[in-house]
Amino acid sequence: MWPFWNRKRPVGPAIQPKMYVRKKQRISLKVVLGVALMPISLGYCLLDAPRFYNDLKHKLSPSTQRVEFLEKFGYPIKGWTDDIEDKGKNISILAEVIHREQMERPFSLNSIRIRPESIMLQGAIEKGNLLVKEQNGGTYTKSTDNIMLSHNFGWSVAHHEIAHDKIADILKERPGLLEEYAKIGVDKEGKSLYLTSDERDIFWSRWRDKSTIEHKLDPELCYELGFVSSYARTKPEEDLAEVCAYAKVNPDSFIALLDPNKGHKKVKSKIAFAIDAGLLSKRYMEYVALKNVYNQSFPGKNSIDSRKAQVFMQMSERYLASGEDEYAGHIHSFRAMVTKLLHPHDYNLRYTELLKVLDVPFKQMTVYQSAMRGLAETCSKAGATKRASVFREASILHEKRWKAGDVNLSYDGVNDFLVEKGILKK
Ligand SMILES: [Zn+2]
Repeated sequence: MWPFWNRKRPVGPAIQPKMYVRKKQRISLKVVLGVALMPISLGYCLLDAPRFYNDLKHKLSPSTQRVEFLEKFGYPIKGWTDDIEDKGKNISILAEVIHREQMERPFSLNSIRIRPESIMLQGAIEKGNLLVKEQNGGTYTKSTDNIMLSHNFGWSVAHHEIAHDKIADILKERPGLLEEYAKIGVDKEGKSLYLTSDERDIFWSRWRDKSTIEHKLDPELCYELGFVSSYARTKPEEDLAEVCAYAKVNPDSFIALLDPNKGHKKVKSKIAFAIDAGLLSKRYMEYVALKNVYNQSFPGKNSIDSRKAQVFMQMSERYLASGEDEYAGHIHSFRAMVTKLLHPHDYNLRYTELLKVLDVPFKQMTVYQSAMRGLAETCSKAGATKRASVFREASILHEKRWKAGDVNLSYDGVNDFLVEKGILKK
């Protein structure tokens, strides 16, 4: 260092000019890199601008739905007005899925984003991806702990992406989880049944010829090999997330696993693995067994097998006595249906059972709605017309809240309205 007023460089040993040259080279490299990267940075900013400004707008002035979502779950829902405020159903589906998943195993995220249909409104990375990759229904990004869902997502995709987040959490304590899981997906010679990394690249590529992997993704073949979907065959982590989503959305498809001589052994092992890892309820197979007996109670439309129905009533009573979980609403509604056919004129019995559906901790939209319709019908048949019309009003209100994106619907339903009308106690 030398004083600033002495502009003349000190005359020093021969090493001085050498150091000066080296410093000059460093600056030049930075300049060159900066100039080279400038068009890329500028391009990225331009491509990302619509999303950036949309995020900023909603951060500075969030709607009631966004504020309620953030307050309820602790992370924001991001996206365009068309997919959030104008499509409240998206918030309702997400809130229901998050509620159910939290009951099984708590998890947290940084944000959930709904990807718009228009490419122009998507972020720079999504736009870039679209040039080379196939569009997906949803993604979970581990490094940022974010979930992105397509504008027309459903329950299954939301469960699938949350499963990824939970898998990432479990991996912190059990790093070998996916290697252990991959051992189920092997053939008799111990060779992996999953796609190779090159085949996976072909699967995702927009431009590579897919005919070479088509035969591997045939749905029937995939099922024979123990995959719940063709997509599950892409890699072990996707397989595990698919198993969790399918199990939650369609338990009936796992009934065959109850029979030791039927059902796919690999699927059975995969479900057992997911339960053991804490990705599915410990009581999942107990619920599937219950659903099986319930289905068997109805050999034909409007006909009932009384013996099977009695077995179902006893089994379900035992199930519910151990605690009301995410399946309690379904179970009470099945009990109400059995009661209706076993005792068609005992309106009180059916009314009491249906009322229990409104009081379970997880009030799934379809189950709660159908219970209210059943209550209106039962009251109407019993001659309680005033009460029947309250349930019809409650059903309309429930639908309205669902469409508006009420984050509390699966927690509270419209029980506040029914308390106000004197039907439910506080
Ligand atoms: Zn996935």
